Amino acid sequence: MPELPEVETTRRKIEPLLAGRIILNIAHDAPQRYRDTALAHGRRISGLSRRGKYLILHLIPPEARSDEPHDLELIVHLGMTGGFRLEEGLHTRVTLTTDAGHLYFNDPRRFGKMAVVPAGAYGGMPTLAAMGPEPLSDDFREEDFVRRAAGAGAVKPWLLSQKPVSGVGNIYADESLWRARIHPAQTNLSAPEAGRLYRAIREVMAEAVAAGGSSLGDGPGNYRQHDGAVGFFQGQHAVYGRTGQLCPRCGTPIQKMVLSQRGTHFCPACQPLRVEDNRHRHAEGGSHA
Ligand SMILES: [Zn+2]
Repeated sequence: MPELPEVETTRRKIEPLLAGRIILNIAHDAPQRYRDTALAHGRRISGLSRRGKYLILHLIPPEARSDEPHDLELIVHLGMTGGFRLEEGLHTRVTLTTDAGHLYFNDPRRFGKMAVVPAGAYGGMPTLAAMGPEPLSDDFREEDFVRRAAGAGAVKPWLLSQKPVSGVGNIYADESLWRARIHPAQTNLSAPEAGRLYRAIREVMAEAVAAGGSSLGDGPGNYRQHDGAVGFFQGQHAVYGRTGQLCPRCGTPIQKMVLSQRGTHFCPACQPLRVEDNRHRHAEGGSHA
């Protein structure tokens, strides 16, 4: 499933093909999945941004200057298997035609979505509306993260909610927790734990973006860049997809568990579950008495 590094890589690759172009047509046969796309016809694309795992094409009237604020957005979520291609394929779901040519949205499993909305009007997209700060931006602040983590439930599902920080999905949650030596089901992180996790998230996301994201497997449903290139971050995975292989830090076999219905990879030696414990505190208090 594409996560932030893959979506950012997609953004960087397709922006030169789209920025400044006029959308002539967006063709598809699924108006429930690709909503209000006709509103984009005749609009100029002034730029592409990204929030978490959402790609956002900025749309302006064709006569407007490209530095004017945009008033419409074409939001794209790649879903499990979506991606842009230069050539039409078996799984092409949407054909985007600009004054420069065609770009095809392929999506074998059809979980991808698009919608044209007024700029910033994310009411119909609760995940986008409630999304936390970008992990590589100055808005992602350690003190805020540490404070929120102290009251959070199991840390991995909390990360996947996108609320503490945007764009961290299954792969990068597992990798960040391993790097920070925190069990995925740990609750109520201590300040040192949350600080380690904060730094691990920033490092892992920066490294993955630099590597062009991860490509998993060879099937048609797997993430590729628009030109078919693969990402290389999977060569650096420490735990994700490495069940039974040895932890690169301590040599213990990596385990897999299911947590909130997501396959979760961790090292049982480096990432022990710290038992949260009132009993322990009571015992300490009692020993003073
Ligand atoms: Zn280990």
